[in-house]
Amino acid sequence: MHVSTTMTKYCSRFLISILFMMFATISFGWSGHETYTYIVVNSLGIDVNELVEITKYSYVENRVYNEPYYYKDDFAGTRKFFDSLGDGKFPPDPKPVDNKLPAWQILTIYAQMPDFGMDEGLNLSPLQALIGNSQGVRHMRYKIGIIEAFEGNKSFVYFVNMSQKAFNEGDRYWGYRFLSYAVHYMEDLFQPYHESPGSIWEVLGSVTNKSVNKMLNNAHYAYDNYLLFLMYYSKHTDEIRKLIEEMPARRVPSNYDALMEEVMMYGYSKSHIVHDELKKAFGDILYQRTPTIEDFKNLEEIGKLDKLYSTTKDIIATMTGTVKGFLVTYIKENQK
Ligand SMILES: [Zn+2]
Repeated sequence: MHVSTTMTKYCSRFLISILFMMFATISFGWSGHETYTYIVVNSLGIDVNELVEITKYSYVENRVYNEPYYYKDDFAGTRKFFDSLGDGKFPPDPKPVDNKLPAWQILTIYAQMPDFGMDEGLNLSPLQALIGNSQGVRHMRYKIGIIEAFEGNKSFVYFVNMSQKAFNEGDRYWGYRFLSYAVHYMEDLFQPYHESPGSIWEVLGSVTNKSVNKMLNNAHYAYDNYLLFLMYYSKHTDEIRKLIEEMPARRVPSNYDALMEEVMMYGYSKSHIVHDELKKAFGDILYQRTPTIEDFKNLEEIGKLDKLYSTTKDIIATMTGTVKGFLVTYIKENQK
């Protein structure tokens, strides 16, 4: 190997070590995937009421999982993968009738499942040792300067392919269930903290300064929870639900790698503004703890979340148009 190439390789490895070793405790993911996905799926403008027979899992996969958490039973009617939200009744989760479920329900139930441990506790990549957990490897795609790491994009493509395989074999239950997992990873990549944990200076500073590290982790958690706050507890909740319902599907690339590239670039392009506005709104709170729903409510009341809200509305609109664009095309292609 050429000397300068070797040098570059070692330098970037060193940089990667510094960048990632302080981010070992992030849970990785928007909260409320099930609620968001429910609203999206029921406003696609296509029929998602197809009744689907629940079938047994019968797949050979080339990914490893934390097996006890890679659930294969059906959980309809149990709310197992639902966050405890609002009055605990929305979105609906009825029991199966004659061992059958509507397509919308399969897509709703399993949208949160990838965050329930299946990707945790594994040995997935050399970077694993640096970040201290494996879930982030599969749910994020960091881009910091010249460094790109993790494989949230691959997770999406992987489960679309699993879904297609199931549909091709006439297994409509697993076709929709794998599709729900795929949608989870696409939604995750619209969360800007899945592309960038903070400014490069903060990330470098967090190596020696634990309070900066804590602030960055709390900022990530805060934004995970902001979507959930907007969908259930905000004075804008009706407006946000209406926005998701009324947002039309947009044309998206038919090549899934290209689609992921667009999603990741979009998430990345929003990371600076979201991070700046979050810091302005929450200030010292981020150095102490993860903001609570009460914090959100109080700050919203005095107008401190106005800018964060308008930026987040843009992100939700783009995410919704994109998820719908993908789902409408994909489901139509696979409808009988
Ligand atoms: Zn996730």
